[in-house]
Amino acid sequence: MIPPPLSRHELVLAALCVLFNSVVMLGGWLLFREGALVVDGRPLGWRWLLDALVLGLVMDFAMYVTHRLAHVEPFYRWVHGIHHRYEHPRPLTLFVLHPIEVLGFGGLWVAVLCTHAFSLGGMLLYLSANTLFGVLGHVGVEPLPDGWARWSVLRRIGTSTFHARHHQYHSTNFGFYTAFWDRLFGTLDPSYEETFARPPKPKERPSSS
Ligand SMILES: [Zn+2]
Ligand SMILES: [Zn+2]
Repeated sequence: MIPPPLSRHELVLAALCVLFNSVVMLGGWLLFREGALVVDGRPLGWRWLLDALVLGLVMDFAMYVTHRLAHVEPFYRWVHGIHHRYEHPRPLTLFVLHPIEVLGFGGLWVAVLCTHAFSLGGMLLYLSANTLFGVLGHVGVEPLPDGWARWSVLRRIGTSTFHARHHQYHSTNFGFYTAFWDRLFGTLDPSYEETFARPPKPKERPSSS
């Protein structure tokens, strides 16, 4: 499917997203300067990987919860619904967010960093993975092999199809990096594994909220 041309609305919101992310960075730097946010500057080692894993697990759960809350009215209509105007996402859609959501995610990230002296390398690893998952979730095609969602470990990791289904049906697949919380709380799209990497048939889908 050939995507429609970019609208001015998308470009303005994406630019605002970058701007408000800079505001978050400034807030984090001020907290760092005041000593409320401590960074461990240790050199490359196993602790980088451990910190990145801890940050990923904590943020995955926190974002699952906040994402479900973002679908509650009137927040959905006024804030998160802007991101859901795009049934067929593309990479730029990752940045098409209401500024309140940008500040919310950034605030959550900075708040988690204030709880512990994470290593700088661990933070950078996590942020790199976050960008990778974000782009993958909005890339518009599934680059992974068809059998991915049927492998016992791999099917628990978030994919392009996983987030694309959320853009299509809204009431399933609230996770970002993993499908773990959706499986646990019963919000995983029931056809996800069966229709992985294939466009679903809308008429066969349950109605969404
Ligand atoms: Zn999205
Ligand atoms: Zn959503």
